[in-house]
Amino acid sequence: MGSANGTRIIFKDGKLIVPDDPIIPFIGGDGVGPDIWRAAKAVIDAAVGKAYQGLRQIKWLEVYAGSRAYSLFNTYLPEDTIDALRYYIVSIKGPLTTPVGGGFRSLNVTLRQRLDLFACIRPVRYYRGIPSPVKKPELVDITVFRENTEDVYAGIEWPQGSDDVGKVIKFLNDEMGTNIKVDSGIGIKPISKSSTKRLVRMAMEYAIKNSKNTLTLVHKGNIMKFTEGAFRDWGYELVKDEFRDIAITEHELIEKFDSKLPEDKILVNDRIADSMFQQILLRPSEYKVLAVPNLIGDFISDALVAQVGGLGIAPGANIGIPTAVFEATHGTAPKYAGQDKVNPGSLILSGAMMLDYIGWDRAADMIRHGLEKAIMDKLVTYDLERQMESATLLSCSEFGQAIVDRLE
Ligand code: NAP
Repeated sequence: MGSANGTRIIFKDGKLIVPDDPIIPFIGGDGVGPDIWRAAKAVIDAAVGKAYQGLRQIKWLEVYAGSRAYSLFNTYLPEDTIDALRYYIVSIKGPLTTPVGGGFRSLNVTLRQRLDLFACIRPVRYYRGIPSPVKKPELVDITVFRENTEDVYAGIEWPQGSDDVGKVIKFLNDEMGTNIKVDSGIGIKPISKSSTKRLVRMAMEYAIKNSKNTLTLVHKGNIMKFTEGAFRDWGYELVKDEFRDIAITEHELIEKFDSKLPEDKILVNDRIADSMFQQILLRPSEYKVLAVPNLIGDFISDALVAQVGGLGIAPGANIGIPTAVFEATHGTAPKYAGQDKVNPGSLILSGAMMLDYIGWDRAADMIRHGLEKAIMDKLVTYDLERQMESATLLSCSEFGQAIVDRLE
């Protein structure tokens, strides 16, 4: 495992202990990854330097995954990389190409499963000046906690016509009384009590820490009762068992509080997924934190991001206890690779999330303000420029520099 000249972040008694010179591994990524990483690193370093006047500094440690790892070590995901991400606890990555074929479906899914990064967190909010397809994008300020390890994404499936699918169908039809067509492919949707509860617990803790007054369990439990429906039930159970003093249900809100949410309480409610897709368009300000099973979480977070201007500025993190990997939420956009062209905003804002996570929120706030100011000044990359009136087109690195120039 490589090393950098700094000090390791450690996790003790349920808390991160962050030195002033933390070693943080990064994966540049494939395609546009190196372009956006260069811009993001420059912004993160400048913000930390300015916020703490040289008293704090990140010691970056490069680790490898994807095509760069393949060319160096003949494997897409070296064990050393997994070990480093686990050992140093907090890391950041660019997008990775999913190799076609091979022993795993996706490097990202593999990373999430190997490091047990059970929550995919995507805070979705509007930055002034960004073109949006909705009338009031500023009403969106919603953080999605998507379960990251289960559901149909667990990768348990058998192709139509295989011996294995034949066995599964025979078992289900003969032993379980089902009537599945023999020419079917089969996928399994596991959703467990323990994984649901740890996700909802993390979402509740986030709501409390960040003064968010609503947590919504989103599910399709009216149809998938024992998976999505159970997700809702276990979510309420967790809230009742562990957050009774602070959480109230919608029923209690009406019965006990005359529909007025007391300032020191968090409303915990639930919505069926199809209705929730309407709610985020029609009444986004009523929602603050969503806890969602994997598949629906994937859909709803992209839909929300579209409302505030698209993938180029959508940050994300995959978080376990304690390991956390921050990442751009878009892919490798291979047609733009190496052109210094695409919007680095997603990785830059993921960097700001990472700084929040290690408690360096002054630097994180500076980055968010700097990015907003650059966009307000109409200094943007191609993706936003093509949607804005009389904006100035910047390259990826120039946009990073525009943010650095506006850090305060
Ligand atoms: P993509 O790389 O996200 O790109 C799709 C389109 O989104 C691009 O052509 C571009 O649109 C726009 N876009 C993406 N990133 C942008 C940025 N930073 N700034 C501005 N516009 C941006 O999706 P894809 O082409 O479906 O996937 C390519 C590869 O990425 C695949 O191998 C996939 O597996 C992988 N992937 C990785 C991750 C990850 O590592 N977390 C996530 C998703 C996909 P325009 O053409 O309109 O300019």
